[in-house]
Amino acid sequence: MAEGRIETIASDLKKIVQGNVLSDELSRTIYSSGACIYSLRPLVIVQPRHKEDVVECVRYAVRNGIPLTARGGGTGRAGQGIGEGIILDFMRYMNQVLEVDPEKKWVRVQPGVVLGRLNARLKPLKKFFPIDPSTADYCALGGMIANNSSGPHAIKYGATRDWVESLEVVLSSGEVIQTGPRTVSGLEISGGTDGLEKRVYSGILDLLARYQGPLREEKPDTMKNSCGYDLWQVRKNGSLDLTPLFVGSEGTLGVFTEAKLRLADLGGKTHTAFFYFNTLDTVGRATLELLKLSPTMLEIMEKQIIDLARAKFKEMAPYLPEGIEATLFVEFEGPSEEELGERMRRAQQRVVQEEKLAVSVKAAQNPKDREMLTKVRSVSGPILNKVKGPKKPIAFIEDAAVHPRRLGEYIAGLRGILKRNGAEASIYGHAGDGNLHVMVFLDMKKAEDVARMVRITEESCDLVLRLKGTISGEHGDGLLRTAYVPRQYPGLYPAFVELKKLFDPKNVLNPGRIVGNDPDLMGKHLKFGAEYHHVSTRSPFDGEALSTEVEACHGCGKCRSYCPLAMATNDESFLGRAKANLLRELISGRLDPDVFLASPELKKVMDGCVNCKRCLTECPSGVDIPWVSLMARAHHVKNKGQAFKDRFIADTHLACRVGNSLAPLVNLAFSIGPARALIESAIGLDRRRKMPAFSSKTFREMYRGSDKGNGKVAYFLSCYANYNDPEGEGRALVEVMERNGFGVEVPEFECCGIARISSGGLEPALKGVGENLEKISALVGKGIPVVFSEPSCALAVKQEYPRIVNSEKAARAAAGCYEVHGFLSQLKQEGRLNTHFGEMKLRVGYHNPCHLRALGISKEVIELLRLIPGLEVRAFSDQCCGLAGTFGMKRQNYDLSMEIGKPLFEEIKKSGVERVVTGCGSCAMQIAQGTGLPVVHPLALLAEAYRKG
Ligand SMILES: Cc1cc2nc3c(=O)[nH]c(=O)nc-3n(C[C@H](O)[C@H](O)[C@H](O)COP(=O)(O)OP(=O)(O)OC[C@H]3O[C@@H](n4cnc5c(N)ncnc54)[C@H](O)[C@@H]3O)c2cc1C
Ligand code: SF4
Ligand code: SF4
Repeated sequence: MAEGRIETIASDLKKIVQGNVLSDELSRTIYSSGACIYSLRPLVIVQPRHKEDVVECVRYAVRNGIPLTARGGGTGRAGQGIGEGIILDFMRYMNQVLEVDPEKKWVRVQPGVVLGRLNARLKPLKKFFPIDPSTADYCALGGMIANNSSGPHAIKYGATRDWVESLEVVLSSGEVIQTGPRTVSGLEISGGTDGLEKRVYSGILDLLARYQGPLREEKPDTMKNSCGYDLWQVRKNGSLDLTPLFVGSEGTLGVFTEAKLRLADLGGKTHTAFFYFNTLDTVGRATLELLKLSPTMLEIMEKQIIDLARAKFKEMAPYLPEGIEATLFVEFEGPSEEELGERMRRAQQRVVQEEKLAVSVKAAQNPKDREMLTKVRSVSGPILNKVKGPKKPIAFIEDAAVHPRRLGEYIAGLRGILKRNGAEASIYGHAGDGNLHVMVFLDMKKAEDVARMVRITEESCDLVLRLKGTISGEHGDGLLRTAYVPRQYPGLYPAFVELKKLFDPKNVLNPGRIVGNDPDLMGKHLKFGAEYHHVSTRSPFDGEALSTEVEACHGCGKCRSYCPLAMATNDESFLGRAKANLLRELISGRLDPDVFLASPELKKVMDGCVNCKRCLTECPSGVDIPWVSLMARAHHVKNKGQAFKDRFIADTHLACRVGNSLAPLVNLAFSIGPARALIESAIGLDRRRKMPAFSSKTFREMYRGSDKGNGKVAYFLSCYANYNDPEGEGRALVEVMERNGFGVEVPEFECCGIARISSGGLEPALKGVGENLEKISALVGKGIPVVFSEPSCALAVKQEYPRIVNSEKAARAAAGCYEVHGFLSQLKQEGRLNTHFGEMKLRVGYHNPCHLRALGISKEVIELLRLIPGLEVRAFSDQCCGLAGTFGMKRQNYDLSMEIGKPLFEEIKKSGVERVVTGCGSCAMQIAQGTGLPVVHPLALLAEAYRKG
């Protein structure tokens, strides 16, 4: 569509809605995909603020014949949350819990509420919304309702449909209706209006009467179903209720603006176990036996995942014996340990001893076992994404369900199909309700694999339907399965078409999903596909390493649940997925690299990664989003240069030297309003940011290190320890090392350069990197370990340098560097740590900095602090403080930075601790500002305790 048309639509919409309207090419690309294999670039994205915005958008779309697709977390597997017209993103603003009644057990929510956040809010009330898709922490209730989602506990709680009391829905006419039971007498319906709502009720009654036969004959014989429209439950006890019909309708019948949901009481005690099978033939029968004992979860994991998990996670090996074909994970919930123990014994007796269906069983005996069993069970999906190579686990026959008694037959049939088509797959999922997730390994850039995907789909669809199953148990139809809906419901499908016409005569609401007339739909609009290829970008993204990294993102959207910026803003552009989507489209030329790769718009999105490194541990595909974002920033800096403000603020060493040489003056200026305004306009440092005072003397001026002890370490002195906290962090390091028998040399290193590197200023950073590597290599060559008290400096040397210079020397130097708590912890493990600590009667709380976490160190610091007698140490939850190096110092980021830190500040303030402990100078500054509490370095406490010992 011509640019002009997009601009017209955007400008029209801006006049009628209060929410944001995005129509620039980058935003449209960001929203072009999700957790599916498809990509469709919308015309415009609207982030509605309230239902009136939604009504206006629907009316506008219908008036102008523009497709409109509602979107939640974008975790839909089947491509139902993307579209080529207007996207309504409910996550940004319409994400509020409106009302809770714990007594009557219901809650009213807006569609953009993330399930995990709702349940966190309900926990103190001992209630929860019991449907548990594995995307609970990043999918939204609107999306769950529209897909009729469910999870491993479906055998106890059913699916979303069973828990939706009523919905507020915007119909295609712009009417806002409230669903709920309406009394039916003949064709007279009470409570309707004369508009579309009334026509819909009458039309449905007519459909139900005309399609009685197909409704009876074509209902899948399964325990769950998300394929087609649910016309089975609309009429009940003399009433007509549209609620169950809207649930599972994938945004094709109306747009939800509110939902009233029923709640459950938080569950009781549970017992869990793994049953092991050396053949798949008996799994179906074992499932039926276990179902007789009313488990709350019954999950299957098949050989390939078992072998992968065992190889990848050593701690899982005892729970996944060699040579097994499958496991069933079973959970029982009950009132007492005795009753649960008895049920587990009966299960074991039936399945292992009497029927000999499973070869053995491992029941959790203690909390650690229980934790490990749960961990092993939930490894299934995520571990597949760690498989390297061009063939990726593709979700396209990932959601069929059959009755559990046909499970064995289904798995055997699937294996035959895969073998015939020369494909490998991993199978896991919900044995208890016969819903299997099958991930087939394909290279979607190859035409033959795309064709193979279609063939496998055709054959497995036939298999499922022969077994009276459904092609979708919980994920819905979308672009993937709509073409197969007529096959599942040959007699009923015309009723679906009529139903869609009734609700949406202009075919504007998420058109082509559930009903459509394109038999080849599943193979179109592919994110990769046979025509996908790389173009030259004249940037580091032309290299294989970066392009592979970018393409590894499978779009799941989990980054919404851990990226501090995404969590604080609910803004899609902050997700790692947004960065990967943009870069993928750039390297494939679908976005013009010459126009966008060095553009300020792209830089802005890439700046939305503050290099906290959470992606590295939390992203299921392990996509190194901080690295690709950094390289994109570096490309921008190389081509467009860097503003003075950005350069100055990123040059920590220079900024500190200036500050220190004028210490009294600068400290005074930091406390005077007009001076702060001047500083703000000169270097962009926000006037509200409380800066730590510069010490009148630096560490270097006061201390020389120490030559006591038999051992020797070199101290990589951080700017904060040298210029701001020489008596705390710096001196403490020397003391703690001395107490453990190490003399401390303090060489003159260059600034580690982490702020510069993070800003994209790689070239200016290189000189310092090179000099540091020379010095570190010389020390390491002499057998002298280099220790760091500042995690960000350690991270720079250990993780960033080796990638920037990509040399053996850098890798060797990195191996000889130690973050100090890791170093001390090692001494503790070897029994060499001096533990002569004196008593300290103090309550402290520990915050683990992101960069320490990224170095793999967290509980080690707490374990060290807990050696101090009398010291009460509380560990705060794993949240970012929000400062993120220099990010939160800048005027444009100050508010966001404080918003990110808010949950942590609140937790700290509620905890009643006297001091906060953290090893990072930036975190210390932010936490002091956010809580008003004193913040100390862990080394300072250890040193104080040694002095008392
Ligand atoms: C790794 C992974 C694991 C998954 N595991 C499960 C699982 O265990 N169980 C399960 O059921 N699903 C699972 N899914 C699928 C998906 O997470 C769920 O279907 C989820 O509920 C979709 O929610 P969402 O907010 O992401 O919706 P989206 O994907 O954004 O949208 C889904 C549908 O809802 C519609 N929609 C959204 N908001 C509205 C609204 N306000 N009004 C009308 N229509 C609306 C959209 O148009 C679209 O058709 C998984 C997906 C992934 C990637
Ligand atoms: S960056 Fe990781 S977590 Fe985010 S969508 Fe991509 S694969 Fe999922
Ligand atoms: S590294 Fe941190 S800030 Fe960057 S995208 Fe990942 S989670 Fe977000």
